[in-house]
Amino acid sequence: LYLAKTPGIVKPVYKDLVWNISTEKKEVFLTFDDGPTLEITDQTLDILASFKAKATFFCVGKNIAEHPELYARILAEGHQTGNHTNDHVNGWKTTDYTYFKNVLQCDKFVQSNLFRPPYGKIKRSQTRALKNRFDIIMWDVLSGDFDTEITAEQCLKNVVKHTTQGSIIVFHDSVKAGDKMLYALPRFLEEFSKNGYQFSAIPA
Ligand SMILES: [Zn+2]
Repeated sequence: LYLAKTPGIVKPVYKDLVWNISTEKKEVFLTFDDGPTLEITDQTLDILASFKAKATFFCVGKNIAEHPELYARILAEGHQTGNHTNDHVNGWKTTDYTYFKNVLQCDKFVQSNLFRPPYGKIKRSQTRALKNRFDIIMWDVLSGDFDTEITAEQCLKNVVKHTTQGSIIVFHDSVKAGDKMLYALPRFLEEFSKNGYQFSAIPA
């Protein structure tokens, strides 16, 4: 179960986490988790380039080890990257020691002060330790591209309906989410470009 829009009431409770970015500009912050992935990441980068959009990629260390060329392309095209652990571990089900070790393994591949916990699941003790080193980036809009129960059209509607100035939006450049994301992304960019928005990487 998940909500496409993070309820406002959740945010002050977890003030160590970043849910959206306050900005004077008409801009939004697209993020892509779980890559880099063969074919999907390349297509994502092509679409972003065609709209002159910048984004933030929360990469899994083991995927970078498999496809260093894709990771290099993300950086070469001016996007931001962030740490998403080495093996996509769930903080709630992992001891702090193992969790930190996995974050540091990813840190060998991703030099960034941005971190996103896989599944959005992180213990308070893990947050307390990691916030000294990282900005922990959550989101206020979930596309639902990973959800096998919804259509690509619904995924597009989720992001169009809930995105506002300064929103942090979650997509996945993964095989599982690829079809829906690649349907929704260009249509979302088209719509928000028309309305005068720009698409920025999260400042590191
Ligand atoms: Zn993830």
